Amino acid sequence: MSRTDDPTSEVTDLLQLLIRNRCVNDGSIASGDETRSVELLAGYLAGVGDHEVYEPQPGRQSLVVKLEGTDPDAPSLMLMGHTDVVPVNPDGWSRDPFAASVEDGFVWGRGAVDMLNLTASQAVALRRLADSGFCPRGTLIFLAVADEEALGTWGAHWLLEHQRDAVYADYVLTESGGFQIPTSEGPRLPVLVAEKGTFWSTIRVHGTPGHGSQPFRTDNALVTAAEVVRRIADYRPQTQIHESWRKFVEGMHFDPGVTAALLDPEHFTDALAEVPIGLARHWHACTHTTFAPTVAHGGTKTNMIPDHVELQVDVRTLPGQTGEEATALLRDALGDLADAVEIDSNDDPSTASPIDTPLWDTLARTTARLCEGSALVPSLMTGGTDNRFFRRAGSVGYGFGLFSRRLAYEDYAVMFHGNDERVDQESLALSTRLWEAVARDLVG
Ligand SMILES: [Zn+2]
Repeated sequence: MSRTDDPTSEVTDLLQLLIRNRCVNDGSIASGDETRSVELLAGYLAGVGDHEVYEPQPGRQSLVVKLEGTDPDAPSLMLMGHTDVVPVNPDGWSRDPFAASVEDGFVWGRGAVDMLNLTASQAVALRRLADSGFCPRGTLIFLAVADEEALGTWGAHWLLEHQRDAVYADYVLTESGGFQIPTSEGPRLPVLVAEKGTFWSTIRVHGTPGHGSQPFRTDNALVTAAEVVRRIADYRPQTQIHESWRKFVEGMHFDPGVTAALLDPEHFTDALAEVPIGLARHWHACTHTTFAPTVAHGGTKTNMIPDHVELQVDVRTLPGQTGEEATALLRDALGDLADAVEIDSNDDPSTASPIDTPLWDTLARTTARLCEGSALVPSLMTGGTDNRFFRRAGSVGYGFGLFSRRLAYEDYAVMFHGNDERVDQESLALSTRLWEAVARDLVG
């Protein structure tokens, strides 16, 4: 590949190949087949650092490329990108989701923003650093990881449990963040410093079987379940103004009145009435434990009063919140029905990294150069990424990237796991330059 200072065509080419590999992870062990993209990336990075491939299940490979640092006391940095993507429904797409066509400066395809764009730009940055003779003081690691889209079971989770020394780094950068939010003081770039936890809960509702022809005063589990769902949907837990929310709002330079309302638990929900619905949903999720009833299974036959219904509720917890606290909220929502049902929950708590770190300072310095007039703001991710495993292992992990103004946050949010996913080439080049600059600044 010929080399110019402009990384655009190189990162575009690599992204196209990653998209065409269609490493679709549908949650089954046999899906994903990330081996194809590991082979692609290992070939692209041939001669760069030390390579190690891990394969905990057939086809579920992850690649570690390491540029060993010269100073064992210097901090280490990992750039981590997943190679798997979520399934598509091609009916909703106006382009072939795996053709990776380029039109008007945009690359189209599944994974274009989640997150093959960043995986490709990380690999290109590493290649460019190595080719320039970069010899870091602290170890620089690139991890192309499998299975992010299905809880990291055969990817980051497995690697930290079984190969911790091979993958652990003091600082970890992975998706997503870094889209430009316009403000009166210039663009703000969210750094995802924390992620909400999941507290997925199953609620079993019991009743007494009977004949559907005589419903008078029956103990119908479906009717009780409907009331359980209604109470959960109506539940209004308190607004929680935590540190990353406060710093986000303060960094956004809203009108003083808006800032005050967004930091006041009493007025927060009223303030959301003025905000577009997509943003309102996100901000609400950033400041509340959320409860979404999502699945109901019950009943067997039209003429039978059901004696058993099972509900699933997607509960998302805030930083610092324990399972006991989440259970207490769920029971509060159910009121006098709490004792009449069985609740089983799986607690995967929220994770957070401090904001006051050398990695933050590095990002602030490098983005100030790459994106004029910008400043960082901390942000809470309402979903989960592989960062949670690294934060629990002791790393400072942030979600970041860098996007041009051509990719608005609203579009980005809709494309994540959505239809017509695409990324502009300027964003690809910006992210490539970002990773290079970050590596030079933090471990160089
Ligand atoms: Zn992702």
